[in-house]
Amino acid sequence: MKILVSDCLLGKNCRYCADNCKNQAVLDLGKAYQLIGVCPEQLGGLPTPRAPAERVGNKIVAKTGVDVTAEYTKGAQIALQMAKDNDVAFAVLKAKSPSCGKGLIYDGTFTGGKVAGNGVTAELLMANGFEVYTEDELHLIH
Ligand code: SF4
Repeated sequence: MKILVSDCLLGKNCRYCADNCKNQAVLDLGKAYQLIGVCPEQLGGLPTPRAPAERVGNKIVAKTGVDVTAEYTKGAQIALQMAKDNDVAFAVLKAKSPSCGKGLIYDGTFTGGKVAGNGVTAELLMANGFEVYTEDELHLIH
């Protein structure tokens, strides 16, 4: 059985600042599942490193002021297609990211504040019937 996983949780240096957030508990899911890594921001065409971006309403705006909604949307669509093509059981995505976050994301002020909401990719996956968990919710996987 396959699951979709944020590449940065798997240790890939794909975050905006070209580092990762490797998570051993997520990697350990590889004992039970085939892990399909995905970084929607890279798939959407954004470079690494890149300016940080946050969700503001239905838009994603970089700290530089550039609107990157199109790149985030493209990445989400590619991630959704990967989820479908691989028939994944569910997804484990990075918490609070404007792409991958679920339930709580950064609030668009670049101050570390959080607001209720989902990242673009998490939102699209859930709208298409895929269950999404963050790395903080692994205990909820059944
Ligand atoms: S949170 Fe998602 S989009 Fe951001 S670096 Fe990680 S995998 Fe890529």
